[in-house]
Amino acid sequence: MTVSPHFAFHQGVLHAENVPLTTLAERFGTPLYVYSKKALHDAWGAYQQAATGRNVLVCYGMKANSNLAVLNEFRKLGSGFDIVSGGELARVLAIGGDAGKVVFSGVGKQEWEMRAALKAGVKCFNVESEPELERLAQVAQDMGKVAPVSLRVNPDVDAQTHPYISTGLKENKFGIAIEDAPGVYQRAKQYGSLDIVGVDCHIGSQITEVSPYLDALDKLLVLIKHLAGLGVNIRHLDLGGGIGIRYTDETPLTPKMLLDKVFEKLDAQGFGHLQIVLEPGRSLVGNAGVLLTRIEYLKHTDAKNFAIVDAAMNDLIRPTLYDAWHSVEQVVTPVGGQVQTYDIVGPICESGDWLARNRSLALAQGDVLAIMSAGAYAFTMASQYNTRPRAAEVMVDNDTVTVVRPREKLESLFEHEVVLD
Ligand SMILES: *Cc1c(COP(=O)(O)O)cnc(C)c1O
Repeated sequence: MTVSPHFAFHQGVLHAENVPLTTLAERFGTPLYVYSKKALHDAWGAYQQAATGRNVLVCYGMKANSNLAVLNEFRKLGSGFDIVSGGELARVLAIGGDAGKVVFSGVGKQEWEMRAALKAGVKCFNVESEPELERLAQVAQDMGKVAPVSLRVNPDVDAQTHPYISTGLKENKFGIAIEDAPGVYQRAKQYGSLDIVGVDCHIGSQITEVSPYLDALDKLLVLIKHLAGLGVNIRHLDLGGGIGIRYTDETPLTPKMLLDKVFEKLDAQGFGHLQIVLEPGRSLVGNAGVLLTRIEYLKHTDAKNFAIVDAAMNDLIRPTLYDAWHSVEQVVTPVGGQVQTYDIVGPICESGDWLARNRSLALAQGDVLAIMSAGAYAFTMASQYNTRPRAAEVMVDNDTVTVVRPREKLESLFEHEVVLD
């Protein structure tokens, strides 16, 4: 059993759906990102089922994995998109996505990004500060447009996740403190170029319990009631993303666990009419991808055993950035061989260049490993550090394979650079 049902062993060989990962490593080389189309669809299905019969818009938090092929699957399924930059908007438009289902988040929106989003006609700007509100009002006015806005409110709840991926506490840079929100909404109301449409929050990522969401929801409902008294009527409530996935033995909350409780609270307090917006990223794609890498060398020192592989922190930065755990599977189950404790490390000249530590495995040079749960915040955070081309990405659909992004060519890494005479 692996962490994802779409990556399973058949006769000792790990498969993506019906394709052996050995075949993919041979055919496309390593490091290689492999995505399962069915995993994307199943993850989407869990949200869709949980939302049955209710007014819910799921806006895929696309910074988790913004490959056009991934976006296009979600577009076909009816998803909207949560974007955090003008670049992400361009990707949505490139696949023919509906801007009317796009929400624009982020603390540092630039003027050109606001203009592009207004031109495209996004559903909502999730505004994170007063100066941003002023800038947006001005940009919209200059364009003769009305900008739909939500304020991203910081409800000061502890999502009980890693500090780097917790965003709903007072000390985070995100959002507007909930006690300041009524005043900012009243300011927003005074601008003819702004249309207040919602309230938004996003409290963190890799959240495994439902309680932080419910704490946030309680606070947001108090705010929405208060706003109604001030003549500010909210049409949608955006609860952000953040549902966790299984990396090792977690049992995170499901969309149904969350939405059942949310609807219960909304109905009990007379808010059943509110549209609910969700912005899931990781939970839609995290376990839909693996990173394949080949062992270049085994190196045994007095202190440690190292498996030096051809993937590195430039391909997958989560371990060293967040101290994140990814399961490591041998693509071919070894027969015999001596189990030893290994650190799986890359070739980059940094001690922080590791992918997994202290794993008991029976390894041999040339073996292919699958770094599991590499569908989210993996390729999108990749760089070309050490002048390493970014890995290829392929999507498996049953027994067919499509290269959805070829491996970068070496020359392309420096083709735009210029030397002085
Ligand atoms: C990153 C992000 C998301 C997606 O978060 P996940 O934990 O991947 O679900 C949603 N909304 C905002 C504002 C974000 O920054």
